Order: sequence, then structure tokens, then C-alpha cells
Amino acid sequence: MHLSRFPRVKLCQTPTPLEKMENLTAHLGGPTLWIKRDDLTNVATGGNKVRKLEFLIGDALAKGATHVVTQGAVQSNHVRQTAAVCAKFKLKCSALLEHRVQTNDSDYLQGGNVLMDNLMGLHLDHFPAGTDMAAALEAKGAELAAAGEKPYLIPGGGSNPIGALGYAAVALELVNQANEMGLKIDRIVHATGSAGTQAGLVAGLNAINAGIPVLGIGTRLPQDRQEANVHKLAEATSALLGGPAVPREAVMANCDYVGEGYGIPTKAMAEAVILLARTEGIFLDPVYSGKGMSGLLDLIRKNHFNKDENIVFLHTGGQVGLFGYADYLNAAAAA
Ligand SMILES: *Cc1c(COP(=O)(O)O)cnc(C)c1O
Repeated sequence: MHLSRFPRVKLCQTPTPLEKMENLTAHLGGPTLWIKRDDLTNVATGGNKVRKLEFLIGDALAKGATHVVTQGAVQSNHVRQTAAVCAKFKLKCSALLEHRVQTNDSDYLQGGNVLMDNLMGLHLDHFPAGTDMAAALEAKGAELAAAGEKPYLIPGGGSNPIGALGYAAVALELVNQANEMGLKIDRIVHATGSAGTQAGLVAGLNAINAGIPVLGIGTRLPQDRQEANVHKLAEATSALLGGPAVPREAVMANCDYVGEGYGIPTKAMAEAVILLARTEGIFLDPVYSGKGMSGLLDLIRKNHFNKDENIVFLHTGGQVGLFGYADYLNAAAAA
């Protein structure tokens, strides 16, 4: 796996920390829980999209792009991180926001990520829930091209094979880190959405024959569709890398913790956010890592894992989104 064959801009200081969560482990009575801090990826309060943007923006610059266009939900962490990287590299940036969560809450509509988007002067176009956002992205690209720009389109979540290279790189980084520490990782768990994080990890771990299973906790789709999306992208990422085929059974997602839908808070998410804050002083986010951790906690409580395992939870960032859910989380914290 030779990642320096691909154009890349180096954005984050690596390796990101891999820390043992002593207090949470003791609270649960095992297994031993570790956390890979990809919430600390330097750019604009960090998160997993910075990893993908190293390769996506590298590619955009190599192709002479002038204007980056992407899309996401209103409280998209990906949109915020993309806008920040574009500012740094003097690329124009526009984003299409889908109002996927039905709410009039001004914290959700104006706070958190939206506040940061506005501070960066990001051009935002708004679309109702259920819009074909991939088609809207193409249309925006065509409009910009007609106006003389050289657009570079980044799909939702930065999840295409180029973006997923970022998490193939993390597979190498994490395994090297564990080898240095003498840590045997039994499992990696993280929140999965647009699939690029899990696809890149699985393709990378498979290419280096790490033998570490990855469990994605779903945040949007049912299990069959989520696993199919991840597997398809993992295969495409491996092909781009010139790596081996990715076995279908290497892709595992548990989608029992989505609740009513994408971006709709669950009680278990709020409990997970509060537990991590109170035991470790670590903040998760309400849309992804909070639901991901709620799944991990539930599976641990149901004795799904051996107590002697070392489980690494990949923190994918997104804490800025907490400020979009202040009322819900304040009520949960006071309860
Ligand atoms: C986007 C995102 C995810 C999901 O990653 P995908 O690559 O889209 O599956 C997880 N956590 C946070 C905080 C995110 O912003």
C-alpha cells in the first residue's frame, strides 16, 4: 500500500493520539476501551473528513480546480471541514444543504456547524428533505462550469475512493501505533454514515493483512444497505490502491442504534455523550459518535465482547454539532 503515489495535502499532525479510557473501562468492568482521537485532526475543530480531504483536495489542486462543491445535511461536519480546507488553499467553495431533519429549532438551523460555515463566508444553497442531492451537486457543478469556473465535486461525506484513501492511511497509522505500544487490538468500532471511513479502514486493514475486525455502528440506513454501500466502496478503494479483493464478510455494520432517523437524537445517544463527558472529559457528537458509542455501550452491557478484549473506538469528531442540539442535551444532562 503506497499512498504517496496519490496527490495529497498534509493537513493533520499524525499519529492522532490513541488513549486508554481507564475510567470508562472501570465503570463498565471491561473490555479495555481505547479511543483513537480523530476528533483532533487540526482543521477547524477537527473530525474524520479532514483525513479524506487530504486526498480530495490534493486531487482537486492537481486537476487545477478553482471551485469546490459539496453537499450534506444542515449540521454537516463534512461541509464545515471542506470549507475550512478550501479557505486554506484559496479555493472557492459552495455547499448544498439538505434539510434532512425536520425542525424549526434555531440552534439546529443557525448554530453549531452552520455558525462556522457562516463565519467562513461559505456559500450555502438549501434543499428540502428527500432531494436527490447527488443530482443537485452535478447541476451546481454544471452551473459553475458555464460561468467559467473549474468545479471539483466532492460527494456527501467525501465518500468516494479518493476520499476513502484517508482511512486506508489511518489503518496503517493505527496498526503502526499499536505495534509501537505493544498493544494487540481485537476490534475497531466507529460510527458509519456515508461509508468512506469504514470502507477505507477495511480496505487498508485488508491490504496489510492486519486481522482486525471493524464494526460500524449505523447512523442512517438499515444494515443491508449500509453494508452494501461500505463493501462497494471498500472494493473500489482497494482497486484504486492496487490491493486485494475485500471479502464481503469483512464489512459489518450494526444499525440498531439509529433511532427514528438520521440526525434525530436518541436517549441512548444522550446517555453516551454524558457518560463520556463525565468519566473521561471527552465530548462525542449527537449525530454520529454519540450514537456509535451508544451502540458500543449497549453491546458491552449485553456481553457481546470478551472482557479481555482491547477495543478501539474511533472518535470521528463532530462535537460542534452538540451546539445544534442544546435544548435536548441540556434536558438530558439535568435529568
Ligand atoms: C461523517 C461523519 C461520520 C461518518 O463517516 P462516514 O465516512 O460518512 O461513514 C462519523 N462521525 C462524524 C462526526 C462525522 O462527521
